[in-house]
Amino acid sequence: MSTHQLQRETVLIKGLHAQDSHGEVVNPIHLSTTFVRNLDGSYPEGRVYSRASAVAYDEPEALLAHLEGGKEAALFASGMAAATTVLQSLKPGSRVVFPRLMYWALRKWLLHFGSTWQVEVVFYDNADLANLENKLRPKAELLWIETPANPTMEITDIAAAAALGHRYGARVVVDSTVATPVQTKPLELGADLVLHSASKYLNGHSDVIAGALVTGQRDAHWAQLKNIRALSGNILGPFEAWLLARGMKTLFVRVQAASASALWLAQQLARQPQLDVLYAGLPAHPQHEIALRQMRGGFGGLLAILHKGGKEAAIATTNRVRLFKRATSLGAVESLIEHRASVEGVGTFCPDNLIRLSVGLEAKEDLLADLLQAINEENSHA
Ligand code: PLP
Repeated sequence: MSTHQLQRETVLIKGLHAQDSHGEVVNPIHLSTTFVRNLDGSYPEGRVYSRASAVAYDEPEALLAHLEGGKEAALFASGMAAATTVLQSLKPGSRVVFPRLMYWALRKWLLHFGSTWQVEVVFYDNADLANLENKLRPKAELLWIETPANPTMEITDIAAAAALGHRYGARVVVDSTVATPVQTKPLELGADLVLHSASKYLNGHSDVIAGALVTGQRDAHWAQLKNIRALSGNILGPFEAWLLARGMKTLFVRVQAASASALWLAQQLARQPQLDVLYAGLPAHPQHEIALRQMRGGFGGLLAILHKGGKEAAIATTNRVRLFKRATSLGAVESLIEHRASVEGVGTFCPDNLIRLSVGLEAKEDLLADLLQAINEENSHA
């Protein structure tokens, strides 16, 4: 027997639960919601009802666990559903420590949830470990890390932050949506759980809303999370699960290509006097060294630019693009642009001159030309 270990990109294509009873190359979509019981009352595969255990999840969950080097994965109806499931596992009176800059809708939910469920929510500065340690003292139940942070692109040192979290008794969760398992493996760096909005790079085509958790341990807390999913019904449909597994086949090439284009665009845009570029791949980024250490093969396809002309100039730039699509979200084949503060609305921490770019798979020269005409046309009107 060969001992050759397949690379992760190969496993995504080959599959882990490939159905070949008809010689098919593509897996079928399993739709059954219920399963026949044996005469002795048992169930052949232990499955009773697909709210608790769906065949359609077997392949994408196994692939996700493999990608992250985890023990198991669980799919959810959205990234938010995965995140709020973790929060619903907390007891009233828990202290939870979250980054100040993070995905805005979760922050919004957290503030509401914290006050109604009597969970004490404290925020730390994303890249400041001393500040994080102060916030973890004397004890915390949960430490949340989002890196790179959406949309301001701070990098948190996962290994150092996770070690601190564990010192103060916290379970450590990393939202790795932007980095993807291609570029960062948080479980290897000490995290307990990894969260993905699978609506982004994992699916990659702006046609599925899905979320996922991946665990490093099959422990009682993991069983509790799966139980919350089963009982709350926070589940994904079989067709979405199938589309997700299909999208994941091309994850590596998509992420690598988008990241290479994003780095090149960041370098070109940094030469524009009216812009500041936020991207961890640039040596000028304050956490560039950490990103080099914890990210592999690139720094992601998401970047932000700050327009020195202020909010109006930033909005005008987004209104002048012809190729980028003016839409929220990230991680798909098409490039997207947005004036982020307008999307987040009242109470946002996002600077009002920030333009968020999700770089897709178009030719990078076309993307640059589009951005430059949008910026320069604006200058000609200044
Ligand atoms: N985490 C990050 C970093 C995100 O960008 C998003 C969505 O934009 C989410 C979580 C929530 O995911 P979903 O939209 O799938 O609920």
